[in-house]
Amino acid sequence: MSSIFGKLNPSVKGLPVYQPGRPIEEVARELGLDPSEVIKVASNENPLGPSPLAIEAMQVAVKQSHLYPDGNAFYLKNKLAEKLGIESSNLILGNGSNEIIEFVSHILLRPGDNIVVSQYCFAIYPLVAMMMGAEVSSVPSVAYGHDLSAMLKAITPSTRIVWVANPNNPTGTLASSDDVRVLVDKVPSDVLLVMDEAYYEFLDEPIDLLPLVKSGEMPNLLLMRTFSKIYGLAGLRIGYGIGHPNFISAMEKIRQPFNINSVAQAGAIAALDDAAHLNATRKSNAEGLRFFESVCVELGVEFVPSSANFILIKVADGQRVFESLQDHGVIARPMGGYGLPEWIRLSIGTAAENLRSVSALKSALI
Ligand SMILES: *Cc1c(COP(=O)(O)O)cnc(C)c1O
Repeated sequence: MSSIFGKLNPSVKGLPVYQPGRPIEEVARELGLDPSEVIKVASNENPLGPSPLAIEAMQVAVKQSHLYPDGNAFYLKNKLAEKLGIESSNLILGNGSNEIIEFVSHILLRPGDNIVVSQYCFAIYPLVAMMMGAEVSSVPSVAYGHDLSAMLKAITPSTRIVWVANPNNPTGTLASSDDVRVLVDKVPSDVLLVMDEAYYEFLDEPIDLLPLVKSGEMPNLLLMRTFSKIYGLAGLRIGYGIGHPNFISAMEKIRQPFNINSVAQAGAIAALDDAAHLNATRKSNAEGLRFFESVCVELGVEFVPSSANFILIKVADGQRVFESLQDHGVIARPMGGYGLPEWIRLSIGTAAENLRSVSALKSALI
């Protein structure tokens, strides 16, 4: 008898399943622990939580949740545009920047096309490309970072998108401004360059590519940012793309009309006003990173110097150490799925969480 499973889109059938950081409640249930005893350092969330201003604004917005959201997110886009010195027409919002990755892939990729990524790139770029039946050209990394000149050379007439996360996740590496400038200059005008700036706000002196968007001189450049990381709003699912108005309009065509819910819009608007929360997060993160680096040096374990809010640590058997940490109520991220089976990734937590992570790590490594 023929079945529906024989009819699955072939590019979906072979798709690997994305393994996110495990939720606290799930792990607590499994270990018979109280959720308050478990910490999650698996998904690079903000350990200080959302901005209090965002929480307040969301509590107000909840009372209007019988109404559909503003599908065009007028106030949020205006506020972002003002903050960035661009026009609203340069912005598209996504249900997390993950959704922007889908928009981009949707409008550019057909079977036979390809994307260029780096080894150890963010897992969603290749996943969505495969979903579209496109090929993935993965360029060997150098010292766990992107080799931008090799990525340029990997571009062929079939290439539609080059994906660069800077800083990169899961490695935390940062490409130099000089290398990014060369990439931006040399990328062919019919290839989209996406600079994924999910961790941009953690940088002291980030490269500013907004002028290229403002001037309109580079319609094949898209920047991506998110409220999930430094803004501490990962649960709201809201991210944004910054690009040429014509490219933004093309993506708008395939967006669901209400992809950003009203509570998320309210929270994000308020979060943009909370510079103090951002600064506190940046400071706490920098201290936490230094702490982890000094512990790694002390323990004699290899790590990748990070420009983001997490650190990649070489532990020989990542899966075993992940499980051992989990038994101690610390949810980390094993890296086998990224081709880094000897490593684990730990998000930087509060000072107390960092002590717990380190103590669990020490007992796992003995
Ligand atoms: C976390 C992350 C994102 C953001 O994901 P959201 O969907 O906005 O939560 C995008 N790119 C990279 C590289 C990330 O690490």
